[in-house]
Amino acid sequence: MIYIQSLTKSELADLLLPLSRVKGRDLDEEEFAKKAKKQAAYRAQQIFHWVYQRFVTDFEQMSDLSKDLRAWLVLNVEVYRLTERVSNQALDGTHKFLWTLHDQKTIESVIIPAALQEKGGKDAIARLSGQDLAPIETDEEEELMQAGVRFSGAKTEEKVDSAKWKRLTACISSQVGCAMACKFCLTGIQGIDRSLETHEIVTQVLELRRRSPITNIVFMGMGEPLKNLPNVAKACQIMLDQDGMSFSKRKITISTSGLVPQIEELGRLVDVSLAISLNATTDEQRSEIMPVNRKWNIEMLLNACRNYPLGPHRRITFEYVMLKGFNDSMEDAARLVKLTRGIPSKINLIPFNEHSGADYKRPTDERVKEFQSYLTERKITATVRISRGRDISAACGQLRSIFGTARGTEKHKDWKELPVIQPGHVSSGQGA
Ligand code: SF4
Repeated sequence: MIYIQSLTKSELADLLLPLSRVKGRDLDEEEFAKKAKKQAAYRAQQIFHWVYQRFVTDFEQMSDLSKDLRAWLVLNVEVYRLTERVSNQALDGTHKFLWTLHDQKTIESVIIPAALQEKGGKDAIARLSGQDLAPIETDEEEELMQAGVRFSGAKTEEKVDSAKWKRLTACISSQVGCAMACKFCLTGIQGIDRSLETHEIVTQVLELRRRSPITNIVFMGMGEPLKNLPNVAKACQIMLDQDGMSFSKRKITISTSGLVPQIEELGRLVDVSLAISLNATTDEQRSEIMPVNRKWNIEMLLNACRNYPLGPHRRITFEYVMLKGFNDSMEDAARLVKLTRGIPSKINLIPFNEHSGADYKRPTDERVKEFQSYLTERKITATVRISRGRDISAACGQLRSIFGTARGTEKHKDWKELPVIQPGHVSSGQGA
């Protein structure tokens, strides 16, 4: 059985080509082939509309397809579905899902809302504001900050209607677990089971879109996307298709821990945004927390960034997980300025959210602000990512651990006993 979500539109058209019914006795071979191809392309377009825009999974309901074609599809093709094992929505609107795959492995995806689109929405969020913490500016939360809202201070039990958000980002997984072993990351501790197939990647977004009008996609869930580049690139092509989900290339971001050869290959395969999980300013520091740096050091990584084919007005995002007393000094800030000089980029500072899988600590808000100011004073766009979904264990890899479905869970047996909703420690998106 072939899954629709594993096929690009042109692959689907090729599959349908032998089924084309072209009329016209006078046609020569070339004209006949051309017409058949056109018909198959049109059928593929229709099926893409049904699956990705109308969320129909039953071919019998695809009423503008011929009866014969519907019967053929029923026998030969399937619309893949993920089984929702559990989902939880945080007070700040962050919505996390644990999916079960056909082989009983589990993966996580998160919907992260940001920026409200109407006054009513702002009012709703304003009511969620809790502790009066010093505001930290972010790009995503800019509008909310103007409204004086801090997500991490949310106290009430009111949840936010997804229709009120202007931006709903789907944070998706590319692998079951991860082999990169970044020391600060819970998924890294769990190890790798396998890479996801194209249809498993695409379907995460499709399932989330059934539930909310997703506007952006980030590959920052479980796994190193560039370790699964063929499937990730193909999934991106499918998600970019105008007759399917129709995302723009600016709205899809692939985040990598720094696989240099694959960064170059990615640039050749698909045009999407690139984020680099940098997290350190010296090789010694970076190799300590990210083993990938022993193979491809900072210089090699930044050279790959310099050579990455960026379109006009586009920038690479450098993610920088801030670990107290490790990489949050002002010397680090100064080195960061030097390192990223000349690369069209912005820096996303991510204050570490502590979890029992790592000994690192979160820096103070004051230090984060100071670090950010140092960068912005030097004309570097630097934003701070606010922790999201802390009340639902929205960290990458956390839900799998709680449900005992991850490799390495034995290291965290205590989490198995936790109820579904617990104060979490790691914000979503801490992964690569
Ligand atoms: S941060 Fe990303 S690359 Fe590193 S271990 Fe976690 S999921 Fe893997």
